Amino acid sequence: MKTCEKCNRELELSEYEIDKRHQDGHKDVCIQCQQQVENKKINTIEDKITKYFKKNHIDLYKQIQIKAIIEDKSFINALVDSIEVNDKYKIK
Ligand SMILES: [Zn+2]
Repeated sequence: MKTCEKCNRELELSEYEIDKRHQDGHKDVCIQCQQQVENKKINTIEDKITKYFKKNHIDLYKQIQIKAIIEDKSFINALVDSIEVNDKYKIK
């Protein structure tokens, strides 16, 4: 058993991600808390990108937003799909 640093619940070691850098081989934060932190990070980045487009490229923002709604995607996914990578940037 191990107590999660974040939610303070006492959980089985299997509830923690494996991390060899730690003494007991598991992270100090349970999987559930870990996922919350990651989701939050993604949300913040998405939020920043969305705001940036809204502020600086409103026409593009609208186009992508429409695409996102039609294709039932998040703004970011619609944006990523809209980007065409030039041949010379392809990894060989
Ligand atoms: Zn936790």
